[in-house]
Amino acid sequence: MKQDEYIRLEEELGAHNYKPLDVVLSRGKGVWVWDVDGNKYLDCLSAYSAVNQGHCHPRLLETLMEQAKKLTLTSRAFRNDQLGPFYKELCELTRSHKVLPMNSGAEAVETVIKTVRKWGYRAKGVPKDKAEIIVCENNFHGRTITIVGFSTDQASRDGFGPFTPGFKIIPYGDPGALEAAITENTVGFLVEPIQGEAGVIIPPEGYLKKAKEICEKHNIVLILDEIQTGLGRTGKLLAEEHEGIESDLSLVGKALSGGFYPISAVLSNTEVMSVLQPGEHGSTFGGNPLACAVARTAIKVLIEEGMIENAATMGAYFLECLKQIKNSKIKEVRGKGLLIGMEFHAEAGGARQYCEKLKENGLLCKETHDNIIRFAPPLIITKDVIDWAVERIETTIKA
Ligand SMILES: *Cc1c(COP(=O)(O)O)cnc(C)c1O
Repeated sequence: MKQDEYIRLEEELGAHNYKPLDVVLSRGKGVWVWDVDGNKYLDCLSAYSAVNQGHCHPRLLETLMEQAKKLTLTSRAFRNDQLGPFYKELCELTRSHKVLPMNSGAEAVETVIKTVRKWGYRAKGVPKDKAEIIVCENNFHGRTITIVGFSTDQASRDGFGPFTPGFKIIPYGDPGALEAAITENTVGFLVEPIQGEAGVIIPPEGYLKKAKEICEKHNIVLILDEIQTGLGRTGKLLAEEHEGIESDLSLVGKALSGGFYPISAVLSNTEVMSVLQPGEHGSTFGGNPLACAVARTAIKVLIEEGMIENAATMGAYFLECLKQIKNSKIKEVRGKGLLIGMEFHAEAGGARQYCEKLKENGLLCKETHDNIIRFAPPLIITKDVIDWAVERIETTIKA
């Protein structure tokens, strides 16, 4: 089948809830992907940071195949021999007390909302149905009704109401606004360490540290959504480490399986999670042995193959190279580790055109909002490949 035919099928038969670049991929290895015509591209998105370990990592592939031959799903009605070891390894690595496994990122967010609400009623004494959770402007936490209900992005919300009450929205990066928004019914503050979807928005230094202090002072649960920033992306295992803090609850997903299988988790550093009792929350696929086995290897691979350190050093190098590009269309380049945003001036005519041209030149990038391109290649990228990419980025923008 020709590329056009695949595209026609998607357009004719699929819901149009995405506007992908017209490239039909059929193979991936490491930082590279190939389309159905055999053209090779550098993946600069890594499936929104779900493929941090690189495409089709051989150790992950082996784990997936071995586990799939043995046992894939038991449901949580019974126990399985992968879940306990998965908990142990993840807890040791992240210094967490407890884990709650789910499948998608949005489900982890929903889980955390339920958990802190219940904690608010059971432990903090918040009156029934009065719990409030504070979130930030320009947040991205997923696509369920409750989550889009507290989004400030009109495209995500419009036409989907009525929404779940109990959320308060404050500006991002402003500890004063957090303190001012707190009431006696506030149970949690849900925040991204860096706002990825908003266009790689990095808060002022010390923001998370301050937020942690404020949450502690008012007995509020600090929840960090590390679904995109976590698992090495920013050059640390969790982005919270940049500020030397530990959240109360952290969310991970995406790269937790290196792109092989949907798995997410709520990590609890406190006893907050112990408010959940049997029957109060669950998921048929959550914690299944296939997901757990893949996740165990996905974490091992990140650590043992030095991917987190590589993200730090290669990220700093990539950022510096991109900053060196002299072009009046570029407004700002910013980033941490291998999560980098290049923002164009409004007059430059939008980032999509550059993504289309970069594709012709062998780089797959996706615009986020109108004027920003996010560069987030797999964490195994090398200096040579970055040099190759920067040269192409520079000439593409100039043309
Ligand atoms: C991707 C993402 C989510 C949602 O994850 P899904 O698996 O798509 O539901 C939530 N929070 C952040 C920060 C994300 O980047």
